[in-house]
Amino acid sequence: MPFTMTDPRPIAFFDMQAQQRLIRAEIDRRVAAVLDSGRFVQGPEVEELEIQLAAFAGAQHCVGVSSGTDALQIAMMAEGIGRGDAVFLPAFTYTATAEVPLVLGATPVFVDVDPATFNIDLADLEHRIALVEKEGRLRPRAVVGVDLYGLPADWPAIRALCAAKGMFTLDDAAQAFGGSLDNRRLGVHADATALSFYPTKTLGCYGDGGALLTDSAERADLYRSLRTHGEGKTRYEVLRTGMNGRLDTIQAAILLAKLPLLEGELVARNRTAAIYGHRLAGRVGVPAVPAGSVSAWGIYSILLQDAAQRAAVQAAMQNAGVPSAIYYPRPLHRQPAYAQHHAGAIAGGPPPLPVSEDLCQRVLSLPMHGYLDESQAARVCDAVLSGL
Ligand SMILES: *Cc1c(COP(=O)(O)O)cnc(C)c1O
Repeated sequence: MPFTMTDPRPIAFFDMQAQQRLIRAEIDRRVAAVLDSGRFVQGPEVEELEIQLAAFAGAQHCVGVSSGTDALQIAMMAEGIGRGDAVFLPAFTYTATAEVPLVLGATPVFVDVDPATFNIDLADLEHRIALVEKEGRLRPRAVVGVDLYGLPADWPAIRALCAAKGMFTLDDAAQAFGGSLDNRRLGVHADATALSFYPTKTLGCYGDGGALLTDSAERADLYRSLRTHGEGKTRYEVLRTGMNGRLDTIQAAILLAKLPLLEGELVARNRTAAIYGHRLAGRVGVPAVPAGSVSAWGIYSILLQDAAQRAAVQAAMQNAGVPSAIYYPRPLHRQPAYAQHHAGAIAGGPPPLPVSEDLCQRVLSLPMHGYLDESQAARVCDAVLSGL
């Protein structure tokens, strides 16, 4: 390496610090207000945030909850999903999506993903619903579509299929808040939409947090009840089995300080994605964004030829001081915790999930956040290309 007088600025995979520097005073002010008020649980900041999030997404209702995982759980509890129910979800996603139906006693049915969008494959979904129907042991109850890496799933098609079968649609938009489909933000495309505010998500707090968006007033009421132990109109009336699933007031205050930056950060993420796409297309697989979709670019993943090429690129990036990550190295049906449930979900053994298995060998995620400049994005691309 030639000696340079100035070290290039280090590149973070996710960058929470650059953002914090911009709004630290506002965060301090907001947190101090909560400390002064002493209303640490269900303080007014929670409702203030819910109103702003609903407006941002164009949804009728927003209910703040304790995490993205709890958002998924509360949404399924509200539908009464449990024993004997089949919940269809992609095999290529984060573990939380599959864990929730199992916690509730329901059976996850893993569905393969589309090789171009990495989101749930509609033909395979239809096929697996038909297999479950034919067997007659489990009731097809819900589809959890994941907007993987920030790209909206094919919601019009998922909805049409579920409407015909009376199934509940749940959008796991944990990686995708801010993304849109046909000029409407995520939050309105399924019966309910789950958000995560884990620190590295497109809108993240400084701990755990989440929310549910829905256009149904009945569902929103149920979500409010379920997040507070199933309470009724008065505090010590318990109407149903619920959980402690509330969003902390301090996290809501932090999110209120961060939300005004989101729009600009989404623009910056899209700019970085455009640079990556322009420099890397033709050399590696780059994400396809279908017409009508805008990705939130929660994660940016390229596709290499095989595991060996991926290892070489990862090593070259590491040498160049550029971080990378693999989301995800293993499809969920191959996880020790889920393999048996997968095998038992469909009699005679479920059909294979070749696309999910293949992607796990070949995907590689590059640095992505709202504070990467053009020269940093160029350095990321140089590092990738140096490993080919
Ligand atoms: C992060 C994530 C979740 C879980 O969110 P938490 O807030 O960490 O509970 C669920 N699904 C997907 C796809 C995620 O990326």
